[in-house]
Amino acid sequence: MDFSLTDEQQQLQRTVRDFAQAEIAPHVMVWDEASRFPAEIIPKLAELGLLGVIFPETYGGAGFGYIEYAIAIEELARVDGSVGLIVAAHNSLCTNHIYKFGTEAQRQKYVVPLAQGKKLGCWSLTEPEAGSDAGGTRTVAKRTPRGWVLNGAKTFTTNGHYADVCVAMAVTDPGKASHGISAFIIEKGTPGFRPGKKENKLGMRASDTSEVVFTDCLAPEENLLGKQGDGFVNSLQILDGGRISIAALALGMAQGACDAATKYAQERKQFGKPIGEFEAIQFKLADMATEIAASRGLVYRAAWLADRSIATNGAIRYTKESSMAKLFASETAVRVANEAVQVFGGYGFIKDYPAEKFYRDVKLCTIGEGTSEIQRLVIARQILGK
Ligand SMILES: Cc1cc2nc3c(=O)[nH]c(=O)nc-3n(C[C@H](O)[C@H](O)[C@H](O)COP(=O)(O)OP(=O)(O)OC[C@H]3O[C@@H](n4cnc5c(N)ncnc54)[C@H](O)[C@@H]3O)c2cc1C
Repeated sequence: MDFSLTDEQQQLQRTVRDFAQAEIAPHVMVWDEASRFPAEIIPKLAELGLLGVIFPETYGGAGFGYIEYAIAIEELARVDGSVGLIVAAHNSLCTNHIYKFGTEAQRQKYVVPLAQGKKLGCWSLTEPEAGSDAGGTRTVAKRTPRGWVLNGAKTFTTNGHYADVCVAMAVTDPGKASHGISAFIIEKGTPGFRPGKKENKLGMRASDTSEVVFTDCLAPEENLLGKQGDGFVNSLQILDGGRISIAALALGMAQGACDAATKYAQERKQFGKPIGEFEAIQFKLADMATEIAASRGLVYRAAWLADRSIATNGAIRYTKESSMAKLFASETAVRVANEAVQVFGGYGFIKDYPAEKFYRDVKLCTIGEGTSEIQRLVIARQILGK
């Protein structure tokens, strides 16, 4: 068993780390305070291939796998979780849904510009009344001679206001429950399609989270994505990969919080010595570092399995492992960020220091792409063979 990263992976890690320090770090608090989407960073992410990490070069992507994807998200999140979240929703939700279940024509038309980063994507499953129970989707799509007509509203869509392409789930066959839900590709500017309320959030404030509204929105027949009625089942497979990105996001933020706390513990003096010389602080740092290492093991294992799954045309499944990685890494990140604030003492509560932002941002990871409770259900079902 080889735990080391390849030269190429180390190179990618260094590149994204340097990029995050140079291009993101100086602006993090400005974006956060203003709750401003960092549009100027999108072309730079595209230039680095980060908007097409997991797609083959023939489709405009960087040609990497899930391990490299996890590395990239981790490095971005170490500096700003919001940028990591923008990249995650674009790659493993929107673009991957089209890449995995789209026709060749849909791949050429949508995956290529999305993976090249010329377009930004979003993915809309959640509705006000259908969150954990996404099978309770109410948005409807009716087939007409002119195409599909969508009506309804989605909530909490990452990149909702800024996306050029939206993959949205809607009921096409009422009465067939989750097997009556289909996926559609909706382009920005389609009449009857508009982003709605932008949410004012606790954390991840530079990422855009908004409603997406469909009012007699007419989508061409060919914009049905995957087979009619397979939208929900396909979404579950998309979430298997997506959860690895949320796990990596949590891992990156935990590492960022731990790094900041470690540095502070060496600088801050009380009772005539650095607080890092007190055993109480040392034990916190030791627990943080150990739990982060365990998270990284789960994240990389799930990513490795995702790559093996692609290599074996889906013969290998990784539902359980991606849920485990997401559950453990996100709950670890919440604990680590909490302890980081404690290490900073009063300054942990103040916005001049990085601890409070990690504390606010990490919480999303125990909620997005399935709450911790839902991850436990998924894992239990896999263990019990249900
Ligand atoms: C910042 C942000 C970005 C997001 N981005 C996207 C996106 O891009 N696309 C998208 O489609 N969605 C997105 N979401 C939505 C997210 O996936 C949902 O919020 C999440 O799935 C939970 O749904 P809910 O908020 O309706 O909570 P609910 O489902 O109402 O859950 C409330 C509580 O009940 C618990 N609960 C519910 N059912 C059960 C059960 N069966 N057993 C035990 N406990 C249960 C939950 O764990 C939770 O604690 C985003 C959310 C946020 C906050």
